[in-house]
Order: sequence, then C-alpha cells, then structure tokens
Amino acid sequence: MPRRLPFYLLLDISESMIGEPVAKLNEAAKRMFAALKRNPLAMDTMHVCVITFANVARMPIPLTELNLANLPPLSVRPGTALGAALTMLKKSLDEDVVKNSPEAKGDYKPVVFVVTDGEPTDEWLGPLKALENARPRPDIVCVGCGDEVNFSVLTRISEKTVSLVDLTDDSLPKFFAWVSASVGAHSEAVVSGGGERRVVSLEKIPLPAGAKKVNLEKLPETAGGKRIFLHSKCGKTGKHYTMICERDEKTGIYRHRKSHPLPENFFEGAASGPARPVNIALARGAFPCPFCGGNSFCFCGSCRNLFCRDRHDPAPKVVCPHCREVFGRPAEGGDAVMDDSMG
Ligand SMILES: [Zn+2]
Ligand SMILES: [Zn+2]
Repeated sequence: MPRRLPFYLLLDISESMIGEPVAKLNEAAKRMFAALKRNPLAMDTMHVCVITFANVARMPIPLTELNLANLPPLSVRPGTALGAALTMLKKSLDEDVVKNSPEAKGDYKPVVFVVTDGEPTDEWLGPLKALENARPRPDIVCVGCGDEVNFSVLTRISEKTVSLVDLTDDSLPKFFAWVSASVGAHSEAVVSGGGERRVVSLEKIPLPAGAKKVNLEKLPETAGGKRIFLHSKCGKTGKHYTMICERDEKTGIYRHRKSHPLPENFFEGAASGPARPVNIALARGAFPCPFCGGNSFCFCGSCRNLFCRDRHDPAPKVVCPHCREVFGRPAEGGDAVMDDSMG
C-alpha cells in the first residue's frame, strides 16, 4: 500500500456557531475538499477524517481516501466537547494510521487542524496528555475563530495557533482556501522530500487577511465567557430557540443580542436539562421569539424552563409549553414565577 498522508479536521459545531457561522463553515469546508480534489498529489496521498464536536464528538467521515470524502451538512448542537474530540482523534491515530515497521515505512506524519470558536465544556487536559503519547505524533494546527476563543487552551494544544477574529466577512472561506493550499503544498513536500518529520508550515503560503499566527508571549484578548445562550420554547408553535445575550461581569446585566431558532435535532442525544435560572430583572432588551414575534419570555417556576410570551397578549392565562402548567397572567412588566439566582 502506498504511504498515505492522513489529514484530520476537527470542527466545532457548538451552539455559538449558530446561524451564519455554521453556514459559512459548511460552505468553506465543502470548497476546501473540492480544491484538494483538484490537486493530483493530494488525491494520490491524502486520506481525510472529519471529527465534529458539540455535546459529543462524532466522526461524519472516518479516515477515507480524499476522493471518496463527502462532508454531510453540519448543524449545531449544545456544548463544546473538545476533550471527547481529542480522544476520538487519538483512537483513530492508534487504529487507522499505518505505523512504521521493520519491513516498510508507515503513513506520513498525520496533519490535524482543530477549528473552534469557544471554550471547551468538557475535560480536555487528560485527553490532550493521552494524545501527546500518540505514535506517530500528529502535527497539529489550532484555529480560533471569533472573539470568544480561549487561546490559552488552543496554544496548550499546539504552538501553531492561528486567530481568525473577524468572522463577519468571507474570512472563513478564505482561510479554508489557505488550508487546502497549505496542506496541498505539504503533501507535495512530503512526497518529494520524503521527510518523516516534515510539518505544515504556517509561513510557506501567506495567511489570508484577518488570520494571524498567535504570538505565544502575547495571547489575543477575547471576550471569553461573556456570551450566554438562553434556551426557550415558543408557546404558540412549540419550537425551540436560543436567545443570545451578552453579560456584563460587573453589573450582572445581560443584554439581548439576537434570537435564533434551534435546529429540530439540536437536543438529540444531549441532556436538555432545564434552563439555568435567570433573573429577568437583570435582562435588558426585547428578547423576541423568532417564531411568533412575542416580545418577551418567562421562566416557568414549575419545570424551570423558559418560554416566549407577549407582554401585550390580553389572554388571562399563560400555559408553559414545556410542562403545561397554567399561570395567571402576570402583571404588566412582571413575569411568571421567577427565580432570583443566575448562573
Ligand atoms: Zn413564540
Ligand atoms: Zn413549565
């Protein structure tokens, strides 16, 4: 069997990627695969594996020859289980990559790209330590997207970390075009140079505008942990959505930024426990429901979940769409049974 270049892509599909970012990620990853498939040397040598992580890690593409790799559409889920993704990576490195033997050379040094926009929600240091013992040891590049990334986590995983702070333009497709060019050039280099130790160079092909190699001495400042996601259910349609807020550390005030419908399969396989108790007195903004246009939300004191409501709805009763508990219509400006703690 000819020597292969294993290329692993670990993609964060957590809730914070909801909406445009995940759509861009889908598009960018698709284009990257198409570009790699046009590179004859990459087609000859490269085998790809895609691992996604949110509440759990999944492997939509097990290590497969590039030609046969087709990425299914990615959709967001709760959580950022980076540790589980690293564990899955280690298992595939152990089981799927051909090791050197006295008779023959094994696969080339595997290349791994970890793309994330947040902070891990599971234990990741243990899995990282285990990964450090993987043979062959992979060459890892981390990519932090957006302004919520914990760069101290990423730089612990790899000194080769790239920051991609601004996700509002076409930075993600451009960056993935850079990845395909870079990994494509790398596949040519390993085949012609034969270097076992050869690693992906971040400098060989200039990074696209907006992407920067992270300086280990001076990590980029981010708003890590400022955003909170409040899960709610529409009382009229029964559909789930999330209210993205920004929390002010000093005052505890959280301002509504955006409401977004959640995909039907969002809670699939996830523990969809009750929303964390929120203090509505600290909420600022309209908190609209994206389904019925209701302009506010309540907290059900019975099942501890959130649901939409309209402050101007004249109906005398409010029914919780989660547990069917019936509440009397709250006074104007007030809300159903509340909890005064948050977090
Ligand atoms: Zn609604
Ligand atoms: Zn309820």
